[in-house]
Amino acid sequence: MESCLFCKIINKELPGDIVFEDGNVVAFKDIHPKAAVHILIVPKEHIESISSENSENVIGGLILAAKNIIKRDNARGCKLLFNIGRDGGQVIDHLHMHLLCQS
Ligand code: 5GP
Ligand code: ZN
Repeated sequence: MESCLFCKIINKELPGDIVFEDGNVVAFKDIHPKAAVHILIVPKEHIESISSENSENVIGGLILAAKNIIKRDNARGCKLLFNIGRDGGQVIDHLHMHLLCQS
C-alpha cells in the first residue's frame, strides 16, 4: 500500500523508532505516547483492521512479539489494545496492536 504510513515505516521509507522486528512483525514507539512505554506492533503485511478477512493469521505473531518485548525489557503493568474501526478510535488503517506499560 503506497500511501500507508505504517507500510512506509515498515519499509524504512519513513523514520520510526523500531524496537523489535522479526520476519512477520515490526514494533515501533508511538509518536504520541499515552503511557511510559507505548509501542505499536504491526504485521508487515498490509491488513486494514482486526475486522478484515485473514487478520486471525497475523494476530498470534503480534502477541508473540509483545511477549518477547515485555520479557526482554522487563516491562511491567502492561496492557494490549486494538482499536477497531473509526467508531472504535482507529485512525490508521493498517492493523496495529498497542502495547502500553507503566514502566
Ligand atoms: P489508532 O488510534 O489508529 O489505534 O492508533 C494510531 C496510533 O498511531 C496513535 O496512537 C498515534 O499516536 C500513532 N501515530 C500516528 N502517526 C504516527 C507516526 O507517524 N509515527 C508513529 N510512530 N506513530 C504514529
Ligand atoms: Zn500498510
